[in-house]
Amino acid sequence: MGFFDSLKNFKSQLDAVDSSVYYGSKTLLEVYERNAKLEAEIEQRTKELDRANKQMLTLQHIWNMMNSSEPLSNVLNAIVNSLQGELGYIYSFIIKPQIKNNESYIQVAASSRQDFSEKFAKLFHCKLSDYKLVYPGIEALKNAVINNTIYQSSNITELITGFIPDLDKERLEKFLQETEMKSYILVPLMSKDIHFGSLIVFSSREKVSGNELNFLSLFAKQIELAITIADLFQAVKEQAVTDSMTGLFNRRYFEEFIKKEAIRAERQNQHFTVIGLDLDHLKQINDVYGHNYGDIAIKAIAEVLKSNARSIDIAARMGGEEFNLILPGIDSAGGLVAAERIRKAIEGIELEKIGHITASVGVATYLEHSDDLDELLELTDQAMYESKRKGRNRVTLAKQSKETSWQDIAIKTYIDILTKHRIPVEETTAKLLTMKLKEMNFSNDKLYQVADALVSTYNPDHNDGSIKHKVQLATLLAKRFDLPKEQIDKLKIAVLLYDIGNTMLPKNLLNKTEPLSDEDKESIKQHPIIAAREILKPISKVPDITDIIPIIEKHHENWNGSGYPNHIAGDDIPIESQIILIIDSYFALLENRPYRDAKTKDAALKIIISEINSKWSEKLAHEFISIVKNDLD
Ligand code: GH3
Ligand code: MG
Repeated sequence: MGFFDSLKNFKSQLDAVDSSVYYGSKTLLEVYERNAKLEAEIEQRTKELDRANKQMLTLQHIWNMMNSSEPLSNVLNAIVNSLQGELGYIYSFIIKPQIKNNESYIQVAASSRQDFSEKFAKLFHCKLSDYKLVYPGIEALKNAVINNTIYQSSNITELITGFIPDLDKERLEKFLQETEMKSYILVPLMSKDIHFGSLIVFSSREKVSGNELNFLSLFAKQIELAITIADLFQAVKEQAVTDSMTGLFNRRYFEEFIKKEAIRAERQNQHFTVIGLDLDHLKQINDVYGHNYGDIAIKAIAEVLKSNARSIDIAARMGGEEFNLILPGIDSAGGLVAAERIRKAIEGIELEKIGHITASVGVATYLEHSDDLDELLELTDQAMYESKRKGRNRVTLAKQSKETSWQDIAIKTYIDILTKHRIPVEETTAKLLTMKLKEMNFSNDKLYQVADALVSTYNPDHNDGSIKHKVQLATLLAKRFDLPKEQIDKLKIAVLLYDIGNTMLPKNLLNKTEPLSDEDKESIKQHPIIAAREILKPISKVPDITDIIPIIEKHHENWNGSGYPNHIAGDDIPIESQIILIIDSYFALLENRPYRDAKTKDAALKIIISEINSKWSEKLAHEFISIVKNDLD
């Protein structure tokens, strides 16, 4: 190759390098630009991811709250609080309707922690809850609530004065400027397809992005879920009948059960016994070995109760270390045996570390110690404390309630009437009945037998057993009217005595088959007065009889004033007298009369219905019918 050839070659090589360098630098520039773009994209994506993460964290937080069993208001407060700060909202709250006097007012169901609302209240002297929840007259907002869609606007003044019309607008705008609120977003909330309320968020930004709206609707869905779950929690809690720690029944179930048991016991005149039990020295166990060991002791007692209970017994943990047992059909003697067996079984337990535990026990029997539930439980408690007082680890039987029982008053009254010859009853009958009344081991049934015997002396058609039935019905009715125990006791005595005046009426009058003359009727109308004034007044020294006389005097007064002797009406008639009238009328219909045959139960109830608002009130008749139909079948 010649020199020139070599030179040419070198030049072309140089060109090649040069061009490669040129093109190469172009590629490098492209790469650089592409990289820069990518970096920006990565930065953007990272920011988005970060935001998404923050949103996820908020949702996660809500989820955690929902899984705990906190009350709804706590959950909602935590939710609205989590909205604030992280996402730059100034204030957020949830409002819902609260019905007062049939109108919906604003209720703040939750609000973020900032002192915005306090400042607001201070500045404007108003409370949101004083205002009606009428979504402000902004058509688009109203539609959003109706259609369940998000609404956003920068006109906050319009929103607030919409809720609170009497607000000073200028002042409000100044306040909004100070707080730097630029816009609001309202998200309607639904729970079980019903409008629950709205989430309202005040933002420092005027414009809201589509992403943000998406996030808020997702957020609202979480709130709705929280509301639904909280409702479910509540429902489950209310349905729970067992105590989660021991598996025994809980207090709620115990209280429900014992009420039903009392009605059953009264109707069938059958006892049931309550055993109250309290673990001894639990505090000491907790202090020495720790709370966990205290729990172990509580569970051990629960196991003893479970293994000692018959299938029909109800063993309940009333709370803490306090237990109650209901033994249906068991009297106090049987109750004492059961209680002692349980006490022994507890004493026999040997627990790890703790060793032996003991319990103090009280026993009381329905219809034996009291025929009032509250009093029965009080007596059980007192007996249990007596066991504690005497040194623990023992069983105590309840003391009879100190007050004179209604039975005692009835017995004293009957004896007085019979021995002082205040009613024309044959000498031998009077003696026999008095003897019966003075018997030891006097039972309610014997009292009813005496009452039946007395009525039979003037009414040959009297159905034996009906007085007991009347007292039971009167008691059930009185309970429907929430009468206190003392009043119910007086009513029971009045039921036994209200017709005693009939013993004084001429016999031929009561047994007359032909229609009664006006004179006869007048004479019969005298009987409430006779009973009250002539028979009972002289013995009004017996405590409590004084209060019973007016009840008896008024037991033939009708609801519309057409009764006798004083033509009083409505609530002027004592409720006890009203109860006696309806019960007396019903039982009279079931008995034969010289002038008509006995009615069937259904026919009698029809007559009771036909006399609503004339002889008795609608409420009384309905309660009566529901008791006769359901409770005494
Ligand atoms: P007493 O023999 O007079 O009944 O003494 P006590 O220490 O058992 O009774 P006190 O009423 O003085 O204290 C009861 C303690 O029981 C106080 C309370 O903290 C504890 N306690 C209540 N419920 C539970 C529970 O569920 N578990 C545990 N471990 N302790 C409980
Ligand atoms: Mg205790």
